[in-house]
Amino acid sequence: MTNQGNLSPICVKNALRHFGKIKALDDFSLTVSPGEFVGLIGPNGAGKSTLIGSLLDLVNLQAGEARVFGHAPGKKEGKERVGYLPEFFFCPDYLTPRSYLKEIGSLHGMDSKQVLDASKNLTALLGLNAHMDRLAGKLSKGLLRRVGIVRSLFHNPDLLIFDEPAWGLDPFGRKALNKILLDLKKQGKTLLLCSHNMEMVESICDRFVFIEGGKIKGEGSNQDLSVEDEIKIVYKNKEKVISKSKKSNDCWVVLVKETEREEQIRKLIDSGSKIIEVSESRTDLIDWVVSKIEEQDSK
Ligand code: ADP
Ligand code: MG
Repeated sequence: MTNQGNLSPICVKNALRHFGKIKALDDFSLTVSPGEFVGLIGPNGAGKSTLIGSLLDLVNLQAGEARVFGHAPGKKEGKERVGYLPEFFFCPDYLTPRSYLKEIGSLHGMDSKQVLDASKNLTALLGLNAHMDRLAGKLSKGLLRRVGIVRSLFHNPDLLIFDEPAWGLDPFGRKALNKILLDLKKQGKTLLLCSHNMEMVESICDRFVFIEGGKIKGEGSNQDLSVEDEIKIVYKNKEKVISKSKKSNDCWVVLVKETEREEQIRKLIDSGSKIIEVSESRTDLIDWVVSKIEEQDSK
């Protein structure tokens, strides 16, 4: 691999972008290493799309710099290794998914056959095959979103920048998207994911960056969501067997200390309970974000 191949997919240093009094990016720095899946979370207006824009040469920084694989935004060498799914994906009404993908493929120097071969698996996974020859103007929001996902991935990019990818997708589409992204993770691709869908961010990303007012207000990794020394046990029994168990649907749920794990499981077995789940107790991503906001407020 050349030196350039080793450079961070994303490196943003002291980026500044103000719109009048609004601080969209305020001395913002972030490095994403190869193979990392990073979730960028933050309220509306936090600066997420501005950050993405600065990486794609859509937003000019007033100070600082943004680099994609070591290249300035917009430079071909970096740009062709990026798969970008914008928050508002647009496909002209008069094109079909097939003709649209062919047009985009030609920009990547791919002929029709290469485009169709490269998108075959994605269109099948996303349930698009039956819609490839329908006019985009007649497609639902969710189907168009699927076309956008294929468009951002079929040229086999190394860095994926996805802005609210699940927007408009039904549960089947979301499931397919999760599978696609997890497969790409196994292949060593890198992802910057902006999403309000905490479940998706939590299940896919290794690292979370919380942004607000154009600044990073908190950073954490997936491990930070595990509560050490606590085990969650879910069991079924007519009666409560372990004190402090709480009823959840037709099950009991209880958190026990790691050191008590075996003793409590033995107790459940002896009582004839059915053990449904034994897992590490985890904090929700949203709770983690709230704790970061509280930390900031108390400073
Ligand atoms: P997010 O994607 O986190 O919702 P954005 O990056 O889109 O946030 O926007 C950050 C802030 O910058 C918002 O207050 C937004 O209104 C403002 N902003 C973004 N782009 C522009 C623009 N072109 N002109 C004026 N204000 C903008
Ligand atoms: Mg946005």
